Amino acid sequence: MLKITPYLGILVLIVSIGGLWFPALGYFMLLIFAAIFLISPFRGRWFCGNLCPRGSLMDFWIGKLSKKEKIPKVFRSFWLRIPLFLLLMGFMTYRLLSVIGKLNTFDKIGLILVSMCLITTAIAVFLGSYFRPRAWCTFCPMGTAQRLLGGKKYPLQLDREKCIQCKKCDKVCPLQLEVHKGEPLPDCLKCGRCLEACPKAALRF
Ligand code: SF4
Ligand code: SF4
Ligand code: SF4
Repeated sequence: MLKITPYLGILVLIVSIGGLWFPALGYFMLLIFAAIFLISPFRGRWFCGNLCPRGSLMDFWIGKLSKKEKIPKVFRSFWLRIPLFLLLMGFMTYRLLSVIGKLNTFDKIGLILVSMCLITTAIAVFLGSYFRPRAWCTFCPMGTAQRLLGGKKYPLQLDREKCIQCKKCDKVCPLQLEVHKGEPLPDCLKCGRCLEACPKAALRF
């Protein structure tokens, strides 16, 4: 299984900080969107657990500073996730439409993408420093989009015969999902950490 690496996190810093001087860097976000929309209909949130640069930043960098408090339940609520998704998409569309046809459209669009990356990363770092590093990922609009597009694909399966209910899987899950229950987990990031932690090899995709 492909594993997320610490080096991917550097890309977030390059885009969100370097992009303030070189707006063209913002177009890297389009590559991210394309990957998300190509992968998620087949693998759900696999991108989040294996390729997302911000996921890497949170796991390997912010994870070292984080107080790792429990992620509040409200972060998982669709009452928060859907309005946030619509708000972000609406705001992005509005900002993009307002610069199209103006002078320096290329740079202005780049800067809009950079600012989106910078603002969402700042929120993710703030939350991840206190709660578990992936707290932002519980309601990130791109994570919600992946869940909506492919939440049932490539599911994690629990072999109840083998499971001894030790809950080691729950402890390592970056989203604090209740893996031991064996229920469908549409927000699973397919990171495979629970599989590695399970002493009975009771989990598989
Ligand atoms: S939820 Fe968002 S920030 Fe987190 S890994 Fe997925 S796309 Fe990246
Ligand atoms: S770690 Fe394995 S054995 Fe333990 S609760 Fe999870 S699935 Fe069951
Ligand atoms: S359930 Fe397992 S594979 Fe899914 S996010 Fe949690 S640890 Fe990763």
